[in-house]
Amino acid sequence: SVTLSGLRKEYGDLTAVDGLELSIDDGELLCLLGPSGCGKSTTLRMLGGLETPTDGDVHIGDDRVTDQPPYERETSMVFQSWALFPHKSVLENVAFGLKMDGVDESERDERAREMLEVVEMSGFADHDPTDLSGGQKQRVALARSLAIEPDVLLLDEPLSNLDKRLREQMQLELRSIHDEVETTFVHVTHDQNEAFTLADRIGIMNDGQIEQVGAPREVYDDPVSLFIEEFLGDTN
Ligand code: ATP
Ligand code: MG
Repeated sequence: SVTLSGLRKEYGDLTAVDGLELSIDDGELLCLLGPSGCGKSTTLRMLGGLETPTDGDVHIGDDRVTDQPPYERETSMVFQSWALFPHKSVLENVAFGLKMDGVDESERDERAREMLEVVEMSGFADHDPTDLSGGQKQRVALARSLAIEPDVLLLDEPLSNLDKRLREQMQLELRSIHDEVETTFVHVTHDQNEAFTLADRIGIMNDGQIEQVGAPREVYDDPVSLFIEEFLGDTN
């Protein structure tokens, strides 16, 4: 499980995350949803170790990881811009994290090929990433992040660079990839439809805090505040 307790991040006078409390079960797909600037990315970055909290704690399982750098945590991050290495093949891109972890070449190859199968990109192992479409690049980026077998996969608006049709298709694929690998996913989005399609539970953020967390149906049927009601009422 993942536990965020009293999590706070200040940038000068600005409080980006304001005493946030959240626990996430193993294998859960949790979406952090909320308007622009509410602190979603900052929260995710503190979970992944890319940002140090001003106060509060991050636990992964029984380990307090609050001050650990990213490479010491069992987390892996997928970004909106897929950030693939252009001069390496698709297979080399997926195997990259394994190389960093000191896995030997034949096992790297095998595990990278397995992950390409999971994301249905087996036919592209020898391709150059620059030849791929946006959706294909994001699949490869996903395979790369999953290849190191993290306990927690962190996704920051991974589909927002895709056009609407592809985005909707990838939402379903992401859900089925999640179910196949059984890793905990924390998925940040400002897109309500995406959160409702994907999530086991949705945490709706407002001003650096989680205002409501629950299954999509619960949140939809029983908003706890006017903010939630209005936010969900917006067609964005
Ligand atoms: P979006 O949906 O637009 O991506 P978000 O919910 O991810 O928004 P954050 O990126 O977490 O929001 O930002 C929360 C607040 O913290 C914003 O007011 C933002 O301007 C501020 N902020 C984020 N990162 C920094 C930084 N490195 N330095 C200063 N302020 C920052
Ligand atoms: Mg963001």
